[in-house]
Amino acid sequence: MVRINENYDKLSGGYLFSEITRKTRGFQQANPKIKVMKLGVGNTTEPLTKTVINGLHNGVSRLGFGDTYTGYGDEQGNERLRTEIANQYRKEGVEVNPHEVFVSDGAKPDSANIQSIFSLDASVAVQDPAYTVYVDTNVIAGRAGEFNKEVGLYDRLIYMPCTEENGFFPDLPMAIPGLIYLNSPNNPTGSVATKEQLKTFVDFAREYKAAIIFDAAYSAYISNPDLPRSIYEIHGARECAIEINSFSKDNGFTGVRLGWTIVPTDLIVEDTEFGKINKLWNRRQSTFFNGASNIVQAGGLAALTEQGQRESQEMVEFYMGNAKIIKDGLESLGLTVFGGVNAPYLWLRTPNRMGSWDFFDKLLNETHVVGTPGIGFGPSGREYFRLSAFGHREDIEEAVDSIKNNLKL
Ligand code: PLP
Repeated sequence: MVRINENYDKLSGGYLFSEITRKTRGFQQANPKIKVMKLGVGNTTEPLTKTVINGLHNGVSRLGFGDTYTGYGDEQGNERLRTEIANQYRKEGVEVNPHEVFVSDGAKPDSANIQSIFSLDASVAVQDPAYTVYVDTNVIAGRAGEFNKEVGLYDRLIYMPCTEENGFFPDLPMAIPGLIYLNSPNNPTGSVATKEQLKTFVDFAREYKAAIIFDAAYSAYISNPDLPRSIYEIHGARECAIEINSFSKDNGFTGVRLGWTIVPTDLIVEDTEFGKINKLWNRRQSTFFNGASNIVQAGGLAALTEQGQRESQEMVEFYMGNAKIIKDGLESLGLTVFGGVNAPYLWLRTPNRMGSWDFFDKLLNETHVVGTPGIGFGPSGREYFRLSAFGHREDIEEAVDSIKNNLKL
């Protein structure tokens, strides 16, 4: 006899985006002639760059010849790619060794799986609101306790509210956590941590031998040179932080799948020696993962060439152009909008502070635009709404025009 992992039953509600899809489908069935416009999901829309396409083609071609064919590769990723990723950090003034780089099939799986190398009784601190994966994976692992429906919180998680008052970057947690998840540029608020803000967390984590899981999936969207793209720009972060990143958002690899995680050999937590956590993640990946696709890694290598970087920068600038159109459009209506600068997400305060699902319905019904209710990312998002800059330009313009012309304020 076998029982299920009952922690799955503790997950609160459906996955946010399934709920949005369900509601949107319901609207479309009731109004088949109306075109629904999507500003909701963080999914990329623009084609891969020429350089990446060439890289992928080369990856495929190599598989067609006996002397260049490769089967299973290193679980940690192609050594050239790991070296190139480390070189990219070096260009930003950050020292990362290639054997600290673990190539993967994306930042989501890594941010979901990383908790598995830490003890099951570790207390976990999350930003509120946050990318849902950090909470849900710790619920499944059994670290979150029970969900309290009244307040919308798990009783064993430490929530770090991100509010207008603190500029959507949290104060240090009230209790001492074992794991601290930080995400900058932030999904959903679009806020970006300063060096000083990250330093307070790095100092705190070192003092209490906690580990920071730093999700930098949107780092390429930071254009302000004073803002840190990597947590390792902060002195001491190598001792306390794991950093996760992705080719998804700056190279359009959302469907192609490629990311990486840095586990520094200097990282130590309670009762471990230097290098142990790096070895553990290596063990975990070697056991559960057989490496990212060799074709995709060839595409990743191409993305990291100088030409690839130029083209990826153009893609980022394109989406940031969308962000500006959305921000300007909403602000022209007198709405209060955060984010959308150095980040592809906009965080809108709902008009008259209405509930975020109510605003979802209002926006859909009046303007036919789909966005994402802030409450789906945590209770501090209850009066906020996320809009995404990922979309074709004409679709973004059409959606913004519809909001400007039809939203009743
Ligand atoms: N991390 C954050 C904060 C995200 O918002 C997303 C995607 O929306 C991801 C990770 C997923 O990245 P990937 O496509 O590399 O799995």
